[in-house]
Amino acid sequence: MSNWEKNLRKITPYVPGEQPKNSNIIKLNANENPYPPSPEVINALKNFDAEHLRMYPNSSSLKLKSAIAKHFKLKESEIFVGNGSDEVIALAFMACFHSSKPILFPDITYSFYPVWCSLFDIDYQTIPLDKDFCVNIADYNRENGGIILPNPNAPTGMGLYKNDMEALFEQNKNSIIIIDEAYVDFGAYSCIELLHKYDNVIVIQTFSKSRSLAGMRIGMAMGNEKIIQTLEAVKNSYNSYTMDSIAIEVGTASIADENYLKQTCQKIIATRQRTTKALKNMGFHVFPSQSNFLFVTHNTVPAIEIFEKLKSDNILIRYFNLPRINNHLRITIGTDEQMDILLQHISNIVSMS
Ligand SMILES: *Cc1c(COP(=O)(O)O)cnc(C)c1O
Repeated sequence: MSNWEKNLRKITPYVPGEQPKNSNIIKLNANENPYPPSPEVINALKNFDAEHLRMYPNSSSLKLKSAIAKHFKLKESEIFVGNGSDEVIALAFMACFHSSKPILFPDITYSFYPVWCSLFDIDYQTIPLDKDFCVNIADYNRENGGIILPNPNAPTGMGLYKNDMEALFEQNKNSIIIIDEAYVDFGAYSCIELLHKYDNVIVIQTFSKSRSLAGMRIGMAMGNEKIIQTLEAVKNSYNSYTMDSIAIEVGTASIADENYLKQTCQKIIATRQRTTKALKNMGFHVFPSQSNFLFVTHNTVPAIEIFEKLKSDNILIRYFNLPRINNHLRITIGTDEQMDILLQHISNIVSMS
């Protein structure tokens, strides 16, 4: 009997929020943006000449890098782009966490981090959030082989400010620190202005949330040239063409339309504030969010019950069956109309329990 199965890798993958086929669903489970991408993006797609697809794209996505560099007032050599920030983070783990000491990240955070550690054989240690689910920078003052921290954190939605960030960077000058700013445009502090002060820090952002381009897969890293060069080298050791020609054009159009980004984020922030108030009135504890989602727990009704009932009403939110947060829910901010329907259903659920 053959025994090839022993050669197969055993691995437990990250599980993203589900993408149902049914289009009647109100989908508030994957932190997608309810608004379309910038009209400039739609123009770029209309004007894209499909004949170009016979050729390989520029392997370092120079056009997109140059637009990003201009936007953030950085050099092209300080920018890296990839197929979604998930890919950029994965490559950054390979490029930057090459130490025998464990890397550090919070116990409650983006659940992809431990999956990459396992895939790339990186030792890690989780640091518990405090009792209010906040990151305590002093807890990161210990030997480590690197740090990754989302700001604002997910799924709590709460962020750190400049003084905390600088304290973290000052304490850890011998490690590379990755700040995952997937949600930063919704009102959190961005470390980009600190990149020239701390050469051991890289900031990673995505076009998926604030720029409404989750389906296009564009992410970016910004930081010291040496780190960016290593990211390029790792990428070029694995796949030279992670960005297709269409993504390069679309990303370039999106980054140039700053007004649209600001308007969309402002709308989502206003809806978030309104939804926060309404949920508090129904007996929820709502963590102060700097993102496009709310992290909540109800005083009396179990989270799983609310999640299941909403699901049977065709409203999808996110429930994590994980230690410390298995009575919490993560709700993406949709349009005002979507949130009104959600609030109506939640009001029925909590008043009947
Ligand atoms: C959504 C998200 C990402 C990944 O986004 P991409 O779609 O892969 O760009 C990375 N980090 C966090 C914390 C996220 O929530």
